[in-house]
Amino acid sequence: MPWDERHSFRDCPWCGLTNTRLTTITADQLVSDKWGENRFWATLGCPSCGNAVLVRHGAPDSDDIKAYEVVPISKRAETDIMHLPNDVTRYYSGALRVLRAGVPDAAAVQLRRTLEAAAAHYEIKEKVLMKSIEKLIKDGHVTQSFGPLLHHIRSIGNVGAHASDEQVDQETAERALRFTTQLLRNLFEVPGELDELATNGKEAAADSRRSASS
Ligand SMILES: [Zn+2]
Repeated sequence: MPWDERHSFRDCPWCGLTNTRLTTITADQLVSDKWGENRFWATLGCPSCGNAVLVRHGAPDSDDIKAYEVVPISKRAETDIMHLPNDVTRYYSGALRVLRAGVPDAAAVQLRRTLEAAAAHYEIKEKVLMKSIEKLIKDGHVTQSFGPLLHHIRSIGNVGAHASDEQVDQETAERALRFTTQLLRNLFEVPGELDELATNGKEAAADSRRSASS
C-alpha cells in the first residue's frame, strides 16, 4: 500500500485552504513512459473549491511511501519574496491572509500599509502616501511605469479603510496584490540578490588571488 493517506494532508494549491486534508479520489493510477517505466499517481480533490491535485507516489508493490511531484504547485510560491524586511513582511502577509479569507477590503488596507512600510525603508516618511510614492519614483527606486499602479493601490486602500457604499471586490484586491508583489520584488528582492552576487563575487576574487599567490 505505498500510497500513504498522510499525503492527503496538504493545503489546497488552488484556493489556499489550509489545515485540512484533501479527499483522496483515487490512487495507483498507472502511467507508463516511452521506455515502459511505470509511474503512479493519486488524484486528490479539494472539498472547498472542487479542484483536483495530482500526487505522484511509489509503486503499489514497493515499500516506497514517499510523495513526489505535486501538481499544481501552490500559488503561494508566486507570492514569496526574498530579502523582504520584517516589518514589510508583516503587512504583506497580513494582506495575503485576509485576501485568502475572502475579505478584500481588509486586504486593500494592508496592501496600502505595505507600501507605506516599503517606502519607509527608503528613508521616505512623508505624511501623505501620495508624496512618498512620488518620491520613490523621483529618486529612481521604482520606474515611472509603476506610478499609476502605486496610486491605484493607494486609492483602493482608502476605499477599504472607510465605511461607504463603495467596496473593494476580490478581483480588484487580487490585482492590487499582484502589483504589490512586483513592486516589492523591484524594491527588495532585486537589490538583495545583487548584493549577494557582489559579495560572492568579492569572495571568489579573493579566493582566486589567494590561490594565485600560493
Ligand atoms: Zn481548494
